[in-house]
Amino acid sequence: MNWNEAIELYYDYLATHLVDTDKTAIEKAVSRKNIVADLLSSMPSLRDKCIEDLTPEIWIEALRSYKESDRFHRTWADLRNWPRYQALRACVIFARDGYTCKYCGPEESMVKIFNVDHIVPISKQGSEELTNLQCVCHRCNKAKFDMPEEEFLQWIREIKSR
Ligand SMILES: [Zn+2]
Repeated sequence: MNWNEAIELYYDYLATHLVDTDKTAIEKAVSRKNIVADLLSSMPSLRDKCIEDLTPEIWIEALRSYKESDRFHRTWADLRNWPRYQALRACVIFARDGYTCKYCGPEESMVKIFNVDHIVPISKQGSEELTNLQCVCHRCNKAKFDMPEEEFLQWIREIKSR
């Protein structure tokens, strides 16, 4: 899947899932889509790759060199909290994981709101590596909060066996 396709998928998802507030969902989706394309244009090493070809090394190196070039987002925390980066990250991770929650599976995925989850939580020094990021529905993400994955899976097993 190339970036244009990934961005279109992200746009479709946003346009159907964003809650209306001041702007319409479509306007917001257009603006988010443009934000991703815009940020991507300053990351040439990502832009020219297909989503499937993004290795953990390519991803982290692109983020590293971007951080160095942007004086407002020099640290990992700055980058991670930046809505533009969050949109780019969601576009990649949701596309890679097929807009499916890691824990619920494909069931009802179309109606779900997704978050990017850190497998090893940020509070436990989890990184922005591709291997530490996954698509999780909002409900599972809230339940998992800052539990490490092993602990969360254990918790799910316990609930199911009750
Ligand atoms: Zn879920």
